[in-house]
Amino acid sequence: MSDSALETALLSRADHKCELCGGQDDLAAFAVVPRDEGPNDHVLTCGVCRPQLQGDTDLDQNHWFCLQEAVWSEVAAVQVVGWRLLNRLSGESWAQGLLEQVYLDEDAMVWAEAEAAPGDDNPTAVPSVDCNGALLVGGDSITVIKDLPVKGTSFVAKRGTLVKGIRLTDNPEHIEGRVNKVTIVIKTCFVKKA
Ligand SMILES: [Zn+2]
Repeated sequence: MSDSALETALLSRADHKCELCGGQDDLAAFAVVPRDEGPNDHVLTCGVCRPQLQGDTDLDQNHWFCLQEAVWSEVAAVQVVGWRLLNRLSGESWAQGLLEQVYLDEDAMVWAEAEAAPGDDNPTAVPSVDCNGALLVGGDSITVIKDLPVKGTSFVAKRGTLVKGIRLTDNPEHIEGRVNKVTIVIKTCFVKKA
């Protein structure tokens, strides 16, 4: 499934609103790792929710009061994201209380627990590896091994582009790096350690 088909499916399911807070700005798919295949594995998120989910910014607990509604979504991916967020917020009594009420079916619970919250030490985390299976760590330099159109822009990260100082993400199959002064997410299967 192409990225645009994925987003179209999500926009339609979510009625063009963030599936977590109802926001409508800067909507994009967020993969609920370790799954990232079709729409069922993604949540449509806004530009406020997404950076917090990715661990780029600290959680703003006032924003996440929206979970009081979102966790009752019929979409399993939304339930899973909500459950993980509530665990990260579980120092707050409202989040703890909500966590006790939320019901996830068995499959969703296995999924929800399949990834520790960002920032947690997680010795069982899947390592990020390049196209040859070489371990990637933050700060590495990589080259792009095929032309990659960059989502949301008109430019293409050309094959052979050197990207210095990569950053790992919560998803072992995704790294971040700067190309043309823009931070982009690149799939690790399309990079080679430089
Ligand atoms: Zn949102």
